[in-house]
Amino acid sequence: MSSTPSEQPHVCLIIPVFNEEEVLPLLFEELSAFRSSRDERISILFVDDGSRDATATLIRELALTWHDVQLVSFSRNFGHQIAVTAGLNLCHADAAIVMDADLQDPPEVAGRMIDVWREGNDVVYGHRLGREQVGWFERFTAGVYYRFFRSFTGVDAPVDTGDFRLVSRPVIEAFRSLNEQQPYVRGLISWLGFKQSAVDYVRPGRVAGTTKYPWRRRFDLALDGLASFSGKPLRFAMRLGLLIAAGSMLGLVWVLFIKYVMETAITGWASLIFAAFFFGGLQLFFLGVMGSYLARVYDEVKGRPRYVVSDSWRSEGNVSSSGPSTGIESSIS
Ligand code: UDP
Ligand code: MG
Repeated sequence: MSSTPSEQPHVCLIIPVFNEEEVLPLLFEELSAFRSSRDERISILFVDDGSRDATATLIRELALTWHDVQLVSFSRNFGHQIAVTAGLNLCHADAAIVMDADLQDPPEVAGRMIDVWREGNDVVYGHRLGREQVGWFERFTAGVYYRFFRSFTGVDAPVDTGDFRLVSRPVIEAFRSLNEQQPYVRGLISWLGFKQSAVDYVRPGRVAGTTKYPWRRRFDLALDGLASFSGKPLRFAMRLGLLIAAGSMLGLVWVLFIKYVMETAITGWASLIFAAFFFGGLQLFFLGVMGSYLARVYDEVKGRPRYVVSDSWRSEGNVSSSGPSTGIESSIS
């Protein structure tokens, strides 16, 4: 394994930001302390996911005198998973660490990840021993989901982890070749394999601002994850359909039996209407399941770029963009 160079290694922190002006001053303070505490070259790549507040301006102001800071701005909000994907596509370091801007993924833990990487691992993920400021319901549903995801998809994804992880150069290269339209980053990185290890931490709450992942987005991400790793819901629909059809044939035989043999036909079954509603609902549900797979196929077939970069900036001299760049290019930096 040659992912751990002996010269000063270069680690890039990939930080997606979406309307994060409140957290930036604190984040820069922490990053500054972190960089001076490490021997590695630590560069920072902000991916501005279409922020509508002063995030981009503030990053330029705060990073003006810094070295090795880059800001890439999307033309609109494309979503966190796409922002992380762009960061991985654009980073040229020996390893990259994906982290939240809100200090929920503490730099101190990133430091431990680097140490574990330098011992010869390729993927080092943050394993959450607990989460501060998170209600029991969210913890419980997340816990159930990660376990369900593992057994349902057969992907060896670690439980109780998010996107906070370090990936080495070979993993970044492999990730780049995937090119999925709706990437579920943590699942894809687990799917890639390589030598994986964990560092444990208790995930603190947000230092400022509010979450950019409301329940609706969280739910979509969970469904996206399942749909991109398993066609099982489609097969399950078929099995359930067969089972119900076989059951209804038996029911028919029984109805004919009581009518013609026992001659005690039951009239006015109110329960029939509930059966009709139930199966109507079931059909709509599975039509929805099929539709969501079809939509994924449609997205892939269109082959649109996954993101559009409207601007790119570097500390220590501005690298202005020459026209918009798109996510299908292998590098735009
Ligand atoms: N984020 C993003 N685009 C989005 C939503 C979120 O780039 O559409 C960023 C956000 O600024 C943060 C990270 O992704 O740095 C994780 O989001 P957040 O902290 O709000 O999620 P949570 O930690 O609450 O799950
Ligand atoms: Mg967060």
